[in-house]
Amino acid sequence: MPRHRLATPLSTAAALTLAGAMAATLVLAAAVARLEYDKVALAFQQRASARVQAIGQGLEEAVEVVAVTNGLFAATGTVSRRQFHDFTAPLLARLPFIQAFNYHRVVEHDARAALEAELSLQVPATSITEMQAGGGRAVAPQRARYHVVDYLEPMAGNDAAFGLNVAGNAAVMAALARATEQNGPAATGLLSLAQDTRRNSGFEVIMPVYRPGAALATPEQRRAALVGDTAAIIRASVLVQQILDRAELAVDPDMLVWVYASASADPARIVYGQGAPGAARTRLAQWLAPAAGEPLRVTLTVAGQPWHVMVDAAPRPFLSEHLGSLGTLVGGALFALLMSAFVHTLVRRSRRVQLLVDAATADLTLSNQRLIDDVVARRQAEAALQTSEQRFRQLVAMSSDWYWEQDAELRFIDITGGAGAKGGLTPDSMIGRTRWETVDGMEDSDWGRAHIARLLAREPFTNLEYATRDEHGELRWLCIHGEPLFDADQRFTGYRGTGTDITARKLTEQRIQHIAQHDVLTGLPNRSLLQDRLGQAVAYSARSGHPVWVMLIDLDRFKLVNDSMGHKAGDVLLMTIAARLRSALRDTDTVARLSGDEFVMILTEHDDEHLNPDIVQRLMDAVAQPVLLGQKEFFVTCSIGVAVYPTDSAGSGAAGLIEHADIAMYRAKQLGRNNFQFFTPAMNEEAMERVRIESALRNALERDQFVLHYQPQVNLASGKVVGMEALIRWQHPELGMVAPHRFVPVAEETGLIVAIGAWVMRTACAQTKAWQDAGLGRLRVAVNLSARQFGAANLLADIGAVLEQTGMAPELLEIELTESLFMSDVTVAVETMHGLKKLGVQLSIDDFGTGYSSLSYLSRFPIDVLKIDRSFVSDIQRDASDAAIVASIIALAHNLKLDVIAEGVETAEQLDYLRRHRCDEMQGYYFSRPLAASDFEQLLRQKQCLPSQAQHPARILA
Ligand code: C2E
Ligand code: CA
Ligand code: CA
Repeated sequence: MPRHRLATPLSTAAALTLAGAMAATLVLAAAVARLEYDKVALAFQQRASARVQAIGQGLEEAVEVVAVTNGLFAATGTVSRRQFHDFTAPLLARLPFIQAFNYHRVVEHDARAALEAELSLQVPATSITEMQAGGGRAVAPQRARYHVVDYLEPMAGNDAAFGLNVAGNAAVMAALARATEQNGPAATGLLSLAQDTRRNSGFEVIMPVYRPGAALATPEQRRAALVGDTAAIIRASVLVQQILDRAELAVDPDMLVWVYASASADPARIVYGQGAPGAARTRLAQWLAPAAGEPLRVTLTVAGQPWHVMVDAAPRPFLSEHLGSLGTLVGGALFALLMSAFVHTLVRRSRRVQLLVDAATADLTLSNQRLIDDVVARRQAEAALQTSEQRFRQLVAMSSDWYWEQDAELRFIDITGGAGAKGGLTPDSMIGRTRWETVDGMEDSDWGRAHIARLLAREPFTNLEYATRDEHGELRWLCIHGEPLFDADQRFTGYRGTGTDITARKLTEQRIQHIAQHDVLTGLPNRSLLQDRLGQAVAYSARSGHPVWVMLIDLDRFKLVNDSMGHKAGDVLLMTIAARLRSALRDTDTVARLSGDEFVMILTEHDDEHLNPDIVQRLMDAVAQPVLLGQKEFFVTCSIGVAVYPTDSAGSGAAGLIEHADIAMYRAKQLGRNNFQFFTPAMNEEAMERVRIESALRNALERDQFVLHYQPQVNLASGKVVGMEALIRWQHPELGMVAPHRFVPVAEETGLIVAIGAWVMRTACAQTKAWQDAGLGRLRVAVNLSARQFGAANLLADIGAVLEQTGMAPELLEIELTESLFMSDVTVAVETMHGLKKLGVQLSIDDFGTGYSSLSYLSRFPIDVLKIDRSFVSDIQRDASDAAIVASIIALAHNLKLDVIAEGVETAEQLDYLRRHRCDEMQGYYFSRPLAASDFEQLLRQKQCLPSQAQHPARILA
């Protein structure tokens, strides 16, 4: 099951929780902040109001002091300087903000002197003075009226003001006028005091003093009654300081107070305050300590004079005022984080739980599915079991096999299936019996004993094949397999297995075996079975001491039959001969077909019957009986070679025997066929020589070991040499001069004859042309052509090329063919002959008379010359019929317009006979043996001739 990743980023629920809690926290913090602001603002308002109120009250009280002083004048009427001093002294001690108490006396000019005198009593030489515009004082000029500082307390520190005429001071006079008008105290604005050089450091509160007893109801009456005024010089900053000190408000560093002696915040009129209000603060400072709100500004009117009071809160660190909201914010944020973390954890846990639940569910589903699968599988298995049991029964029923079971005593207890129907057995009769009780001879046979031993060893066995007789007594081959059975305690309980009837297979095998070992055509044993039999015969011979004969039989000229009559006829011939050979022998002997027309026989000697050559003759006679092929009767002879064991085996055993028989047969062939030969060691020598020749022959041509001899051919009418036959000689360094009959057949067999023949053709033509060019006459040369050459594909081209290269006239070349050349395929042979004729050469039939049906083909062949075989010529005098044959051949040839040449003419009589019968030419020792080229040339130069009929022969020998 795939595991989901648990480490997800913040879950949605956690994020929402965080956002919600943060929002609530912000709202709450904002509300708390609001409250905090309100609280701060309220506190500020209260404290600011307290200050404003205190200042207002303090100022009123200061004015009250003047009223009290003035009350002294109103009560007593006339106040002495002494009284004024006593009255003000405690006040001055108590109220430090009062610079001085004054009594301004209104004096007409005429009373100036008196006053100056009076003043001088206090301070000598005092005169009335006035403030100068540029500062400082000067003696007052004459005025109509003076308002002179008469009483002045305390004198110390204020003495500069003593005797000062304040009538010139507009502010003082305006205040006096107002005071008179309203009949109450009136204050001036800030003034520059005579006794204080600092500018605008104080103000005066003035209250009129009237003549005692005067009516004062209206302002006119009051102005008329005015005799002076009382004034208090108040140091404004000290006053405010004192007010605040007294109210214990001065030391609060949080509250900033500014007091102006004007209607607005005029910096020129400031009497109290630290620095410039609302001084620009840095952003950081503002942020760290924001202003609590707008400063409180109040304008008071005290004794008709406006006062402006401004209270502001000192910047306070934000934190101190907003701990609640900040705490709310921080706490809320923490809470939000914790909540969201908690929610996140919850979500994660619930997800993990969900995953676990999913996994568990999947597991459950899987195991449930497995359970279902198991049930299904079990049902299928049960069904399959039933099916397979059914199938087993059906198979056993259908099959030729059967099933068997044996108990611990090896007795059959069950046999099911095809044993009875197809196996030909009777299961019922077998139950309760052991196998060896049901199979005859089993206990005595090798295989039976081995099998029983195996059963007793409790071993399994397979492919045990054995033969038995069925209920009808027929031979049955069975093949059985079996395995031992053991119970849970490993105790042997019996055997069980299967059985098959393999009779058909066995028969097929035997048939195949037979086919493999027998020749299909004749049914005789073939080479492989022959080897077997030969081995057995040799073994028997070695045991018994009786000889064994091995005969190799080769039909003479079988190829001829095959080629001329067709293969079917050849087959019939072979079958006939095979049957005859077979019937000519005893059963114990073997006849085998080796190949083609070769048969081998093995004859073993028995005590009662000795082997002798008559047997061989009997075989030859049997073969020689005529055979009917189609409509024709055919005669076949054979040549037989015999090798005898142990005499001829030469220690080489069976193999050498056939070889020796072959050599002997070869000798029989050489000896003219139709005879038999027993092998002799000398034959072996010849055979060996043949082998030597064969290998030497392969190099002879390139080593230039061949030469041509030429035997003259003489015209019988003129007696002149008209041509010659080229005859090959082999000059071998070790073998000496090898005669053609020893090597030409070998060359023929090996195919070397083609190259050798071409050499002969070339050499003969070149020689002939050379002699012609040498003026020795237009001689004809006869060249022998072997069968192999005749059949070669490029025969015509090769001869054409030789003629062209040597420049010899084609009609001077005579090609000698033998009858055997035509036997294989007449049509092809005729074609080849026509081809040769087209080249312009002459054709002759060599050894005429020795072949079959000699005369029948003559008319069909484009030949020019017949060459009567030597054997007829030599018998002319001895055998009358041969002489007759020669005469009729000559007559026949002449009828067919053919020339006739007789070869092997050795005697004058022979020559005479031939002449008489008008033979055209002769060739033979009588005139000349074959000569080396130089000798032949000499013969030509000497112009030797055949003597006329009457004359003695001029014998010329090479
Ligand atoms: P063949 O074609 O019948 O040649 C004639 C043979 O008769 C020659 O034997 C010759 O020497 C021999 N002969 C001639 N006159 C007399 C006579 O008066 N009395 C006796 N007894 N013999 C006589 P040779 O030279 O030993 O040749 C034997 C055979 O070898 C030839 O028989 C021929 O079949 C074959 N042969 C020779 N040369 C060639 C060749 O160049 N090519 C082929 N294919 N075969 C050749
Ligand atoms: Ca010849
Ligand atoms: Ca011949």
